[in-house]
Amino acid sequence: MNPVGGKTAVCGLIGNPVEHTMSPVIHNFLAEKTGTDLVYVPFHVETGRLQDAVTGALGLNLLGLNVTVPYKTDVMECLSSIDPSAEAIGAVNTLVRTEEGFRGYNTDMPGLYRAMCADGVRVAGERVLILGAGGVARAVALMLLEKGAEQVILLNRSRDKALELAERINVKAGRPFAEALGLEEYGRIDASRKYLCIQATSVGMYPKTEEAPITDPDFYRLLSTGYDLIFNPMETRFMRLCREAGAEAFNGYRMLLYQGVLAFSLWTGIEISEELAAETYAEMCRAMEAK
Ligand code: NAP
Repeated sequence: MNPVGGKTAVCGLIGNPVEHTMSPVIHNFLAEKTGTDLVYVPFHVETGRLQDAVTGALGLNLLGLNVTVPYKTDVMECLSSIDPSAEAIGAVNTLVRTEEGFRGYNTDMPGLYRAMCADGVRVAGERVLILGAGGVARAVALMLLEKGAEQVILLNRSRDKALELAERINVKAGRPFAEALGLEEYGRIDASRKYLCIQATSVGMYPKTEEAPITDPDFYRLLSTGYDLIFNPMETRFMRLCREAGAEAFNGYRMLLYQGVLAFSLWTGIEISEELAAETYAEMCRAMEAK
């Protein structure tokens, strides 16, 4: 790590919990490799202290912050301005210091797209299933619309939430682009086609690694590719079920990389090459194995 001095810029992560975060590995590695005088620190923010945390970060002259669960929506109230794309998603994961206060961005959505491109997963013209209708599913659905997917089917435990999200996306699309089903209603999906499936629920995340949102092998036979946004563990049960049914499977580790790379660029103005992104990814894998 670069030596810390009086001119060292500070960035960090606010969330609850933050103890298992990989973001310091990404940003401190990028700072070292690009010769940027910057350190990145996680900050645990207690319930009810979000506004204090953002005001304190401004007062302490922090250059920027990442925001994680459960504050990605609530933090929007604490900002001086919001990037239109983050506004449309309804969630902010990156704050950048400006003269007026912090400006909010969402790097999850472009981060996922860049990760999918790097993994060779095509979106344009595809029929896509999204499992989940939470914060990240909303960003995924908008990305799929922007990048030219043919159709989206949202499957969520609470069907009402899937319906609400599908309606919002359809208004934006100006056509019936998204439809909603309950998580158990996959039998209604046209089985004569193959689908890309993006797993955007929190089911299967460490420590409940033996869980998957759907366990029926028939569901997995609908898929050509499964893309799990979970990155811990690196191989989820969802991914194993995809492979057992003959589909390709990817995890969310590259999305984590690219949402971080994009945030680093917003803070520093430095474009990160694909070579340096790959080096950072290898560093993240080493750090994960050492855990
Ligand atoms: P969220 O807003 O809390 O949404 C959680 C989603 O999971 C909801 O759709 C919820 O369904 C569903 N769910 C939770 N428990 C369930 C259960 N037992 N059975 C079935 N469905 C269940 O969370 P989020 O922010 O969207 O994050 C979702 C996942 O994406 C997390 O695992 C997170 O780690 C991952 N993520 C990854 C990255 C990355 O960089 N790779 C970035 C952001 C997020 P209901 O609506 O019915 O409650």
